[in-house]
Amino acid sequence: MKDYRYILEPYNGLKTRHTCPNCNKKYEFTRYIDNQTGDYINFNVGICNRLIKCGYHNKPKQYLDNNNSTKSTFRRTYIKTAKPKSNADISFINSEIMRKSISSNNLNYFIKYLASLWDLEIAYYLAEKYNIGTSKYWKGATVFWQVDVKNNIRSGKIMLYNPTTGNRVKEPFNHITWVHKVLQLKRFNLEQCLFGEHLLLEDMNKPVAIVESEKTAIIASIYLPEFIWLACGSLNNLNEARTRVLKGRDVVLFPDLNCYNLWNDKIPKLTPFANYRTSTLLRDNATESEKHKGLDLADYLIKI
Ligand SMILES: [Zn+2]
Repeated sequence: MKDYRYILEPYNGLKTRHTCPNCNKKYEFTRYIDNQTGDYINFNVGICNRLIKCGYHNKPKQYLDNNNSTKSTFRRTYIKTAKPKSNADISFINSEIMRKSISSNNLNYFIKYLASLWDLEIAYYLAEKYNIGTSKYWKGATVFWQVDVKNNIRSGKIMLYNPTTGNRVKEPFNHITWVHKVLQLKRFNLEQCLFGEHLLLEDMNKPVAIVESEKTAIIASIYLPEFIWLACGSLNNLNEARTRVLKGRDVVLFPDLNCYNLWNDKIPKLTPFANYRTSTLLRDNATESEKHKGLDLADYLIKI
């Protein structure tokens, strides 16, 4: 694994996501930190999560080049320094906690939404297959447990959905947090894996499909069962380290509308030991008005 002196600040709650200097949206900006000192670089050095609507990305190299650092000093400092994160450093969650959240009888708006698309039986089948849990943190909240190929539980992402529309609740604030945060686990070292990664064990030859959102992966698994459907959570999570588990597989990336190039350009940055292609399904089949709305694959599949 390549480790550079400057890295994007790992997610550790809202305090680690900042206001974007370009679009001024709060909690959308990930800053670079200096691995050697743990300090931020300048306030405007980082990447906006709103890849489409904003697209701001100021890399440390750009910043340092523009601020009188000569090429030679840059080269001297921009070297691999930090030790790669070994498996021993990654924190896991006790399986009993996940089991309890999966067998909870509390209201779960996302499962309710799945049942409205099909029926309760399919909704429960999907919940079991994808380790969908329930959290009381917000009424009706859903937990997407990240279980890796070794069946280690990396953590659970807690989100709130509207039970009728299936959309995420983002007002008055974006309802998203993590199980290890809610449990206030000390010195928890989150290393995310692909959501649904545990399903890779079921069939070593099946092609893999990757989408951005957990919801899309779960819904698409019903419509297109010839793939193992995984979600990367955010496009920034689609990288070399996370795709190593796909070694030897045929992998199809399914970008949301208007994201074809963003995803296709990621391929050289993923593990070279898998075969990739990027699906043009949405790009080629969506109508102009759907393109305008930035439809995702789940919306599209539900419609057809
Ligand atoms: Zn922005």
